[in-house]
Amino acid sequence: FLKGKTALVTGSTSGIGLAYAKALAGAGANVVINGFGDPADIEKERAGLERDHGVRALYSGADLTRPDEIEAMMKAAADAFGAVDILINNAGTQHVAPVDQFPVEKWDLIIALNLTAAFHATRLAVPGMRAKKWGRIISTASAHSLVASPNKSAYVAAKHGIAGFTKTVALETATDGITVNCISPGYVWTPLVENQIPDTMKTRGLTREQVMNDVLLAAQPTKQFVQPEQVAALALFLCKDEAAAITGANLSIDGGWTAA
Ligand code: NAD
Repeated sequence: FLKGKTALVTGSTSGIGLAYAKALAGAGANVVINGFGDPADIEKERAGLERDHGVRALYSGADLTRPDEIEAMMKAAADAFGAVDILINNAGTQHVAPVDQFPVEKWDLIIALNLTAAFHATRLAVPGMRAKKWGRIISTASAHSLVASPNKSAYVAAKHGIAGFTKTVALETATDGITVNCISPGYVWTPLVENQIPDTMKTRGLTREQVMNDVLLAAQPTKQFVQPEQVAALALFLCKDEAAAITGANLSIDGGWTAA
């Protein structure tokens, strides 16, 4: 149902972003992927999207902490495919430290990547969407856009910021055929999470089971990780015409975390 549309997903060389890219390509959209990683691995993913789904896929290595590189990425997308119809602001990073010891450069990085990059990509995407009277802007927020955890001041501030930014742009574009929403996952099963398990087992003397249930899933009542494909399925639904009335929403997909 997205044939002829163009989707740009930031931070889509791994994890949730890659799942979004696959889901959108699976529905027929041409996709622009972005993020860091081994060039050979990225090319494999890019070529795989084209081969598996019969769409075109473009890679941008833009560093989203740099506004000039975001502008170049948006221009490359428009040059290749016409304007961006679906923008997914997804790139993000984390750093954990108490506020009085929080490295200033980590604060600046997290605000730039998790919040300001979405502002730049969105401001550059909106005019093209307005011209077509159709657009979808979706940001990956987090359960941390609704609640806090200690030692994550920059991440929680950026994610609360994304939720507010989403509402604001939704109001500004409400009569333009554009919807603007954010998705707030709890703990998602990505390589990043999986790779933390052996270290935590060792440093805390716990079994794999204990690390999963008592550390990682402590706040998630279902005791199940969210799967990247489940997050992508929600984004795909937001791209449908049936979802045209959903705008300015912050949609939780967190196994009950924020209900507690
Ligand atoms: P990930 O580390 O697997 O993916 C992050 C992506 O961002 C990668 O493609 C990476 O290359 C890219 N990236 C990093 N720095 C970049 C930069 N400067 N410029 C451009 N791209 C850059 O992480 P993930 O778990 O898939 O997270 C994706 C999003 O989901 C983030 O916004 C994260 O905060 C959010 N989120 C994740 C979880 C979770 O449990 N994994 C939960 C809630 C929200």
